[in-house]
Amino acid sequence: MFIHCKFISVTWPVFLLLALVCQKKEIKEDPLAGMEKSFHAYVENLPPLEPVDLKAKHTLNVLYVEDGAMPDLPEPRKLFALTEKLAREYLDLKVQFKLSGREPIDRFFERCEERFNHPVTSYPIQGWHLSFADPDLARQVEPAILRVLRSHDVDLIEATFGPRGDSEALYISQIARQFVKKNQAIYSERNREGKELRHIPALTRQTAFAYWDALLYQEKEADFIVTNTILAAPDRTMPLYVINRGGITSGFVENNEYRPYRGAGMLALYPFLSDGPFFIAERGNYTAEEKLETIAFLWLHELGHLLLRKQENYTLNGSVHRAAIDLNYRGWVKGIKKHHKQIKEEVPVVKYF
Ligand SMILES: [Zn+2]
Repeated sequence: MFIHCKFISVTWPVFLLLALVCQKKEIKEDPLAGMEKSFHAYVENLPPLEPVDLKAKHTLNVLYVEDGAMPDLPEPRKLFALTEKLAREYLDLKVQFKLSGREPIDRFFERCEERFNHPVTSYPIQGWHLSFADPDLARQVEPAILRVLRSHDVDLIEATFGPRGDSEALYISQIARQFVKKNQAIYSERNREGKELRHIPALTRQTAFAYWDALLYQEKEADFIVTNTILAAPDRTMPLYVINRGGITSGFVENNEYRPYRGAGMLALYPFLSDGPFFIAERGNYTAEEKLETIAFLWLHELGHLLLRKQENYTLNGSVHRAAIDLNYRGWVKGIKKHHKQIKEEVPVVKYF
């Protein structure tokens, strides 16, 4: 009895201590939390962006990554020439694109395998990526919607998603349901072989922002990657417009320590090139010329990020620095042609993309 009591009085605190130490250790060694920390530390330790010499001529390397089963961009060089002309006219930038290569998307993704397993910069994949096939997708995207609701004025939120009502929880679940409906309609489009996009396993990665984000961090040759696939797989960091478009990112620029402008960008052209039912309904029917011109204006928007260091803009109607709010790209281009050159207000610059 005495021994037993002694055991209790001395050994139990030791057990408790051990249990606490193990618990603490477990928290410390959560691989995802550790990776998130190193990822943020990596980004914060990159040197801040310097302004670019706007009088100089800027030659940008472009890699064209092709999905043979998706609608094709007919002549990349025609797009280059038009974007160069519009960059001069709207941004006062002398830009020259150089096609550094064309590569099938399967081979490109194989080549990027190492980047998808990078111990630090593949964090977007491990931390943010969501599957478009997840049956619980509506609930999975709710935190992303909440983040967006918290970061914008109510006017912009209501102009985008409709009147808010009394219950935030209800509002979020309505937006989430609407998102899933659009996202499913997007993945019900068919490729040139007649296959629904949802049934093509490779697209789980190839259409995911998180995978493209991770690969752009480690891109060493191209300033822009242009691809004819679609970026529509959901993730936990989707901004306002991406949520409103049902998951579609038309293009973006990411920090990159290897490229001369300290950033690398990409354009995903399927939403412009597709004549599928979702895009015809949301965007309208575009002629080949309209498709090309819309893509060129999208590229100007991305050049605004890469070369002018412009922040994402949500308020300047008619500015090329304001991303298209939905898939009405025709209206977006019309607004830019009418207003962009008259806008006096400066869009702030960023220190990191
Ligand atoms: Zn943007």
